[in-house]
Amino acid sequence: MKRGLLVVISGPSGVGKDTVIRRLLELDSKLVYSVSGTTRRPRPGEMPDENYTFLTRDQFEKLVEQGAFLEHATYNGNLYGTFRDRVEQARDAGRDIVLKIDVQGADQVRRLMPDAILIFVVAPSEEELVRRQEERGSDSPQDRASRRQIAEREMTHASQYDHVVTNDDVERAAAEILDVIRRARERQT
Ligand code: 5GP
Repeated sequence: MKRGLLVVISGPSGVGKDTVIRRLLELDSKLVYSVSGTTRRPRPGEMPDENYTFLTRDQFEKLVEQGAFLEHATYNGNLYGTFRDRVEQARDAGRDIVLKIDVQGADQVRRLMPDAILIFVVAPSEEELVRRQEERGSDSPQDRASRRQIAEREMTHASQYDHVVTNDDVERAAAEILDVIRRARERQT
């Protein structure tokens, strides 16, 4: 059986990565999502083990010691990490797995897994990104401000990715990413 692909999606906070990934999973039943672990508190409506596996700092640090994470990073004061076993199990079963991780995590994956497909999602303009960030009412004003600063730094990493996709329209952006994935599948055969 073919080993599943590893698809990394990064991009500044508020660009709409979650919506694009949700649409990708709806459009392609062969894709699975890698649910990360985090010490961040759940936002209203977020479900444990669906959006994230919510962990205490202590639990997270123990998992780091055990080598449970393929990569992990601190983002805006919270820890986030990709569970190694979730990724390996999916790929071994021939499923293509999608990771939504920040640029630090993507750097680690690039080094560890050179076959990963790295995609950076951007907004059509800076004004539009700020508008989308403001729209997310669940984050506090301080949180939004620091996420905006991080986003500016993250944008400078875009050129290190294999593909940069503009999220001007969810349907179009998802189709563009799916096209990248389908071409990679064809290369595997
Ligand atoms: P949020 O708090 O908005 O859900 O996520 C904040 C940032 O952490 C986003 O850039 C998101 O892609 C990233 N992130 C989510 N899960 C992981 C992970 O497992 N590893 C890393 N490195 N970043 C993650």
